[in-house]
Amino acid sequence: MASNFREVSRPIYDYDVKRLVREYEKSLKAIQAELNTLFLTDFERAQIVAVEHNIRAILRDLNKYGNAWASAAITKSATEGIAATLYALHLAPTLEEARKIATFNSINKPLVEAIIADTQADLLAVTQNVDRRTRATVRQVAAVVLREKTAQGINGTQSLQRAMTRQLREKLGSAADSAIVDSAGRKWKLKTYTEMLARTKMLEAHKEATRNEAIAQGTQYGVISRHGATDACSKWEGKVVAFTYDAPGNYPIFDELPRNEIFHPNCKHVITPVRRPDRLPADIRELNGI
Ligand SMILES: [Zn+2]
Repeated sequence: MASNFREVSRPIYDYDVKRLVREYEKSLKAIQAELNTLFLTDFERAQIVAVEHNIRAILRDLNKYGNAWASAAITKSATEGIAATLYALHLAPTLEEARKIATFNSINKPLVEAIIADTQADLLAVTQNVDRRTRATVRQVAAVVLREKTAQGINGTQSLQRAMTRQLREKLGSAADSAIVDSAGRKWKLKTYTEMLARTKMLEAHKEATRNEAIAQGTQYGVISRHGATDACSKWEGKVVAFTYDAPGNYPIFDELPRNEIFHPNCKHVITPVRRPDRLPADIRELNGI
């Protein structure tokens, strides 16, 4: 029997991811500009208070943006996963038609809410990290400046040696962009971390919504996409996995896949639901020993 396998294409989220990253970069620049004003007044107490106040306002706006972004982006990618499922299972003639009828079922509704909340919490942790680091560094640099001024017994900016000023500027400049350590102990720059977070959460929403919709439609299997990956994912390309523990056959369980190999952060693999693994195209069946 001829295969009617409709493979889910990889969603491209570059635009959404870039929008969020750009907002973070803009805020970072604004914070660095705020920090630079401290040198103009030689770290006067009142100026420090004003700068800290402004930085908090910048971060508050950023949090607001991040919350709205997470809500819209996760909803969008989950909807896309549901539409892709309806199309893959031949429940809609085109992907376009599938998008029109895609709705959140009773498993996907709480799932989407949970991923949105999770993404918002992770983004909040990023801004809290920036807030903490900048305030600590401002205090440290202010102490150095005060010490130098006292030692030289002179008031005024010229008391600061140029070399030291440059060094302190660099210290302050990098404070806002200092490394973020994730739960696995890896260190990230703000931009790469935010980008990874945005992309990973959007793909997670897509993947989980796909699985849930597939199960709701009575489908227990999925095929992992193939794009010629060269990392650990490569051995999973084209593999059939079972969405539930009671799915007949001896397929790896979706929830038990090793996350350091497949569906890791920044992973670009997606999953296509299939009703009958025995009706997959010959090359995929061969790959799975079906
Ligand atoms: Zn991958």
